[in-house]
Amino acid sequence: MIGIFGGTFDPIHYGHLRSALELKELFELDHIRLIPCAQPVHRDLPMATAMQRLEMLQLATQNQTDLIVDAQELQRTGGSYTFDTLTALRHNYPNVQLLLFIGSDAFNEFTTWFRWRELFNLAHVVVITRPNAELNNPLNRFFAAKLTDEKQLLKEHCFGHLFFQEITQLAISATAIRGMIAEHKSPRFLLPDAVVNYIFQHQLYF
Ligand code: ATP
Repeated sequence: MIGIFGGTFDPIHYGHLRSALELKELFELDHIRLIPCAQPVHRDLPMATAMQRLEMLQLATQNQTDLIVDAQELQRTGGSYTFDTLTALRHNYPNVQLLLFIGSDAFNEFTTWFRWRELFNLAHVVVITRPNAELNNPLNRFFAAKLTDEKQLLKEHCFGHLFFQEITQLAISATAIRGMIAEHKSPRFLLPDAVVNYIFQHQLYF
């Protein structure tokens, strides 16, 4: 089983890293792929360059062999579509369970994603929720048919289910980190020291 955790990672922080590790353990995954997007389709452009975001991810995950940095979206031209990413992974791992992790905010917009229905022919979709969080909208009929609360089914099939997983998220956001740096406050202990040093060396987010 392989987990897929996409994001802008501008910059990567302990909120991302703790969640990825917890998800890896909860679902007994072989590894999680952290996939930085090139041009996000649904949000503003990142402040750091693609190469800088990638280098920060690599620094943050060195020595952690179960968190793999996957640069495929940076190597493609144009917008980053989850459909393309999952298609490529499915090609490389034809008979492996793929779990696409998305936040509940992203899930509320999911039906605007490119070829969103077909994503379920490529992977399971696991929505990460905060404890006791309520979804904005009731599930549409398509999602209701995919929904399961049996984790075992995710192991038995390679794709096709929708699952909700609660995790305790650390109250850390990349936006807040960028804001602190712009105000000359220290972001230390919210992200790995190696990443903090990189940010200062490259004078990012000032
Ligand atoms: P920004 O503040 O710039 O929006 P972010 O910190 O939310 O950034 P992203 O790169 O946009 O980071 O997030 C990638 C993924 O990580 C998203 O699915 C998001 O829901 C999730 N995520 C972000 N912050 C946390 C956190 N503190 N704990 C767990 N997951 C998080």
